[in-house]
Amino acid sequence: MENPDYYNDRKFCSNCQRYVSYLMSLDHSYCTECGERVRLFSQNDWENFHDTLQRQKPKGGRPRKQRGKESA
Ligand SMILES: [Zn+2]
Repeated sequence: MENPDYYNDRKFCSNCQRYVSYLMSLDHSYCTECGERVRLFSQNDWENFHDTLQRQKPKGGRPRKQRGKESA
C-alpha cells in the first residue's frame, strides 16, 4: 500500500541523488543521511530553474552597495 504522504516527508538530496527524509532548520532542510542541504526540487529541475535565472541576470551578480558615504 502506497503512502500518499510519502513525498511530503521527503526532499531531494543532491548528494544522495534521491528523495530522503530531512531535518528542518530555520531556513533550510538537511538530509538525515548525509547532512547535505536538501531541496524541494530534483537536481534536474533545480538546474533548469537556476539556469533560467542566470540567463536573466547580468554577469557579475547583484550590484554592490558601496558604503562610501560616512554619516556625520
Ligand atoms: Zn543526503
